[in-house]
Amino acid sequence: MSDSSAPTSRLTPAQESTLDLIRRTTEPLVFSAELVAELREEANEAFAHFGDRLDGNQVFVTKHTLAGVFGCETQFLAPDEFEWTPSRARGQVSHRAIQLLINWRGEAAPAELVDEAIARLLNEEKGLSPWLETLGQGDLADLRAMCSDHVTKFMECFPPLDPRSRPVTESSTQWPVDGQILLRGRADLTMGKPFERESRKLIVDFKTGRVVPRHREDLRFYAIVETLYRQVPPLKLASFYLDAAPPIVEDVTENMLRSTLRRTLDGVHALIELRVEGRPPTKSPGAPCRWCPLAADCSEGQTYLHRDDIADATDDEGL
Ligand code: SF4
Repeated sequence: MSDSSAPTSRLTPAQESTLDLIRRTTEPLVFSAELVAELREEANEAFAHFGDRLDGNQVFVTKHTLAGVFGCETQFLAPDEFEWTPSRARGQVSHRAIQLLINWRGEAAPAELVDEAIARLLNEEKGLSPWLETLGQGDLADLRAMCSDHVTKFMECFPPLDPRSRPVTESSTQWPVDGQILLRGRADLTMGKPFERESRKLIVDFKTGRVVPRHREDLRFYAIVETLYRQVPPLKLASFYLDAAPPIVEDVTENMLRSTLRRTLDGVHALIELRVEGRPPTKSPGAPCRWCPLAADCSEGQTYLHRDDIADATDDEGL
């Protein structure tokens, strides 16, 4: 991560606040080679043990997998009935538009970026394209307006990125290279790169909706995958909420890495129990009951949804 992404004199106050939070401090952060070796050894030993229980299956573990097994297990095992909605499409299009912005040369207007993002998504065979094709002019105009709002907020609150800070969007990371259990992360934005063993990388996830603890766990998962793979932990993690600046930033620490690895291994253990060994899933009523496809027939979910004290439903879509 560079010390400065843009000349501060040209930044808005909101951009300066963001930059103050994400910039590298003067004190170098260097995690010991022994710590990284211990983490890799612990993961390798656990994976060898899990491999005996996998019965030839291969499992991919992402932040969504862990959020699922640590959320309501019954919902996690329910058939995936994913459907595009305006809210989900807004996140996807805004994300693509911001991705274009980060690599755009010269001035770009939010509406121009959103139009380009929609055009590119329409050209893809899978994903959002079939849903976009069903939209009439009015719905498309609504979608453009929502996405332009998000891109505008990003431009107003996130400092312009200097190419020397090595901004990379949608950076995929996997560890190990092959095997029965694969940990996979894909960060919305990374900046910086390690200098020898010195941690200098910032990992950013863009979010819409409200702040929930899971978002920090998502980023910590990226941090442990990065550590296992590149052998140098990142420096900082940032959740950037497009509806509420400044970002929530967390320094990477040894305790964080150790506890995140344990959480990840606990998640793989639960995943094998549920998906391979047939343990009956538990129910954990909570916010996910609001969009759970099983809610209508779930007494625990209905009890939760009819409590007087739950806040109004708001989405918490990642972009
Ligand atoms: S309604 Fe709630 S408790 Fe019931 S299965 Fe869905 S998420 Fe779990």
